Amino acid sequence: MDKLEERVILKLRSKIFSDFKILEKEQDDFNYFSIFFNALKCELQLSHVHFLIYKNVLSENEQFLLSFKTPSLSFFDTWQKDMYTKYLREGAFIVNFPMERYDQVPFDKSLFVFGQHDDLVGILLFKLPDKNHHFSDSFWETLSKTVYQYFEKVMQLCILKHEKKRYKLLQNVTSQLHSTIDIDAVLRKVLDSLEEFYPYFQYQIFLSNYNNIDNDDSRIQPLDYTKSNAAIMETFITGNYKIEHELKVSKRYLYFPLKGKQGIYGVLKIETQKTILISGQDIEFISILIGTASTAMENAHLYQQSRQLVNDLQLITKVTKKLNANLRLTELVHNISEELQSAFYAEEVGIILFEENQFNVLTGSTPFFNDKDCFPFLQFVKDFLDTREESLFIGNFEPDDNDLVSPFRSIMAESLKREQHKIGFIIVLHRIPYKFSFNTFKLLQSITQHVSLAFTNTILRERLEQLVITDYLTKLYTRNYLDEQMQKSIEKDKQGTFLLIDIDNFKIINDTFGHQVGDQILIQIAKIIKRNLKMNEVGARWGGEELAIYLPNCSLEEGLSLGEQLVLETSNSIDPPVTISCGISHWNEKNKESPFSLFKKADEALYLAKNRGKNRAIASVK
Ligand code: GH3
Ligand code: MG
Ligand code: MG
Repeated sequence: MDKLEERVILKLRSKIFSDFKILEKEQDDFNYFSIFFNALKCELQLSHVHFLIYKNVLSENEQFLLSFKTPSLSFFDTWQKDMYTKYLREGAFIVNFPMERYDQVPFDKSLFVFGQHDDLVGILLFKLPDKNHHFSDSFWETLSKTVYQYFEKVMQLCILKHEKKRYKLLQNVTSQLHSTIDIDAVLRKVLDSLEEFYPYFQYQIFLSNYNNIDNDDSRIQPLDYTKSNAAIMETFITGNYKIEHELKVSKRYLYFPLKGKQGIYGVLKIETQKTILISGQDIEFISILIGTASTAMENAHLYQQSRQLVNDLQLITKVTKKLNANLRLTELVHNISEELQSAFYAEEVGIILFEENQFNVLTGSTPFFNDKDCFPFLQFVKDFLDTREESLFIGNFEPDDNDLVSPFRSIMAESLKREQHKIGFIIVLHRIPYKFSFNTFKLLQSITQHVSLAFTNTILRERLEQLVITDYLTKLYTRNYLDEQMQKSIEKDKQGTFLLIDIDNFKIINDTFGHQVGDQILIQIAKIIKRNLKMNEVGARWGGEELAIYLPNCSLEEGLSLGEQLVLETSNSIDPPVTISCGISHWNEKNKESPFSLFKKADEALYLAKNRGKNRAIASVK
């Protein structure tokens, strides 16, 4: 190298390496080679500089990063390299551009650039200003090495910046993923990030529980166990990353499992051209991203599940609260039916009890069950529940039996039981097939248990009330008890008086003020009676709004005056105003009566009292 050549090299080097420091501070992507090309053009008066890089030394991603915004850079394949084989064997650094015979090619020289192991890394193409100007071999060799040094520095910087960007992206995606509870959004975010980072791949996600998401993205597909290819299934089952080469179409496929802590949720499939190099770092990065997404998806899934559980629990609590509210049976059934309709989006809900081989469709069931035409269908359900000893859960009901016309495809039914005996069933219907999930079915089963219990309790309570001597509403004695006491008194006493009391126009009061006010009036009248009775006298609820009193050892006159007293007090003290009528009968040793005939006589007297204008007490004269 002569002095002039040395000066050219020195100037070139100082220019490119000092300017490179500025590049390192740049934030964004930029043309890494622009400084270099400009310096070359300036110091050597070269025109049309172009740098060719051998494809196999860079991964696809590195190629993408380097060529970004750099027009004078491209890559060459093995077949292009082969064009230079002869010169390379001779150990030359600079040769004429092999295609100079084509006029349109602007280059006349090719400078080889070798890597650390003397392998060909790139070729610098350019046109010398003066064809006859001669540089020494050692000049070209030094220039070639300078190009390699610069190339290496660019690569380092490029990878560093890329790593930084990758780290930032991962951080950004992770924080976004952890704050979302929408599985669909998680997956879309991951696919978008991957597409931004590796735009030359194609992506597809196959999900095992696809139904749970609200998807309109064609990149997200259900995992079809019967149709999916073996590699997808293998990745899904083993949970291991897999790579597959398709020789015929020169494609390469990468499969990443979507693996959370509790299971595998699907597979990410990446499709690439066979020629594309994917580095271990790329695979690691994609694995981390997919792992993060899977965890986020799992969290979102768990959150949705727990929300569903909370909803289910709330429903059960609501239903049981109503079940325990001592409602009348009709109201109870109505409530259950309404709750099930809204919670399960059901079209029809029926609660059916078996009574002497008949179906008793409880009032409160939805209209479909009011029609007797539904009985063959109910019989089918009953037979199913009887023979199979299990609940009925059908997603798409298509009966073979022609008589069994049912517009309903989705059916759930569960037996109501009392002490292991089937007393009926709850049935939930919808016209659309597969309307109810298995979870809904489980929920129905658990609600039915509560309903069974409530029904059993109601039946038991009714039985108990018969046995117990106190009437639950008025707290007067029950009729059974009154009967017993009258019987005993007639056997041992000398006389006794019986009063039968009926509230006047009670129907109107109920209709005007409601049943609840009616009940309160009954309670108040009962209190008036209790206040007026002595220790051994028995006040009872005869039934409905009729009350009765038995006064042992009392004369008819005493009974009549008590009756009048009660009529007076009632008419004066109850709000809303109400009156009563009273019929009185009597027995003594001369006229022994049975409790029944005492009642008959009192009832006749009561009838008279009603006929004579009500609000009065009348004694039986017979
Ligand atoms: P009358 O003066 O002729 O007795 O007229 P009424 O309207 O009272 O006629 P009746 O005795 O035949 O009607 C009884 C009504 O009492 C019908 C029923 O709705 C009401 N009833 C019966 N038991 C109860 C009850 O426990 N609570 C309430 N709130 N109403 C009752
Ligand atoms: Mg009556
Ligand atoms: Mg009445």
